[in-house]
Order: sequence, then C-alpha cells, then structure tokens
Amino acid sequence: MGDVAYERVAANLAEVRQHIRAAAAAADRSPDSVELVAVSKTHPAEAVRRALAEGQRVFGENRVQEAEGKFPALKEDFPELRLHLIGPLQTNKARQAVQLFDVIESLDRPKLARVLAKEMAAVGRRPDCLIQVNTGEEAQKAGVAPADLPDLVQLARDDLGLPVKGLMCIPPQSESPALHFALLAKLAARHGLSVLSMGMSADYETAIQFGATWIRVGTGVFGPRATAPAT
Ligand SMILES: *Cc1c(COP(=O)(O)O)cnc(C)c1O
Repeated sequence: MGDVAYERVAANLAEVRQHIRAAAAAADRSPDSVELVAVSKTHPAEAVRRALAEGQRVFGENRVQEAEGKFPALKEDFPELRLHLIGPLQTNKARQAVQLFDVIESLDRPKLARVLAKEMAAVGRRPDCLIQVNTGEEAQKAGVAPADLPDLVQLARDDLGLPVKGLMCIPPQSESPALHFALLAKLAARHGLSVLSMGMSADYETAIQFGATWIRVGTGVFGPRATAPAT
C-alpha cells in the first residue's frame, strides 16, 4: 500500500468523469446534473487527499466510526468538502452522524427518522436526508420496502420536517439494475423528490440513463478494496 497504491486516483477520476459526460450526453442530460460521490470506505485519508487534489469534493463513507477517524482533519483543510453517509445507521450513532455528515443517504425506518429529528434539534445541524428504498425487497438488505415508502415520507418529511431530498437504492447483485433504477425514479417523482442516488462502479452509466443525480463510485475511483466492507 502506501503512495503507490493510490497513484492511479487522478487517472481513475479523469476516466470516471469522462464516462459521466458521455453517459449524460447519451441521455440528453447536462453533465452538471450528475454529482459524483467518491466512496472512500476502507481507503486511508491519503487516498482522499489524492482525490481532493483533483478537485473532488464529495465523498461517501458507510461507517460512522471509520469516517470519524478520517474526515474531521480533511474537513478542516477543505471546508467545502461534503461527506455522505451511505451505510446503515444505528440510532445510537445518530448524534455522531448528524455532527459529521452533510448528507445521510440511509434513512430507512420510522424510529431512525424520529431520532434524527431529535438529534438535529439538539446538535443544531440539519444534514440533508435521502430515504433508502429496498427495491429488490431483499431480506438482508437495509432500506424501506416500496410499499412502506409513502408512510415514511409522510413521517420524515411532512410530520417531523426532516430535510428529505430524495431516494437511494442498492439493486440486488444478481439482477439487472435497470428495473430498480426505473422504479426508484418513479417513486421519487411520485413524492416530488428530486435527488436520485443510484449507480455504483459497475452500473453508474445505466443509472445516469435512468435519471441518477448522484452516483456513488468507490472502486472506479480508488481501486479495489482490500477488505470486504460490512453493509
Ligand atoms: C461501497 C458502496 C458503494 C461503492 O461501490 P463500488 O462498487 O466500489 O463503486 C456505493 N454505494 C454503497 C451504499 C456502498 O456501500
């Protein structure tokens, strides 16, 4: 590891940006309508700094504790850095999440919505929220079932007043992602939500075709992860 492992970050980023432009053009969309969230989980701060040097300012982490070890110092050096939580959030970590993250993409249940509302009031910070939808209805996967989404939107956005901006999904690995992206776009439109976080290294071009406004790319930017991340 060390320096050598992350020498490719600049070239990787240039390549991903090129693919974003091409996919956006093919879908008749402005490239500026797609935000790249560089997923730095398992990679050290040094890797993040390489991306920062290339102008990347939006990052994603899936664990509160890991992000706490890496990002406070980076945020001090780059105040415009925006950090997204993309992994499941336990209610006992909600306060730390509200303190550190600028966006919480994994709101997926009523209890978490209530705790986030309470912690945002206590901390005096209001990170934007996305509701994660389990479009594949997989038992082991986080996210609200599509049938339960209307109630969660009502509670989180309308009753508790959380800044809910959009929806996020992680399609089942064994299925073609297009149907899941199309479903997420339909659900977001139905609820008047404008942000669609969908698409990872293997399928972000398809996601852009289906209207993704945020894509979450880890491997494509930082290279393969040494350890399997918990999801
Ligand atoms: C790890 C992760 C990603 C990035 O995955 P890659 O395949 O490495 O691009 C995107 N979204 C979530 C929720 C993740 O946990």
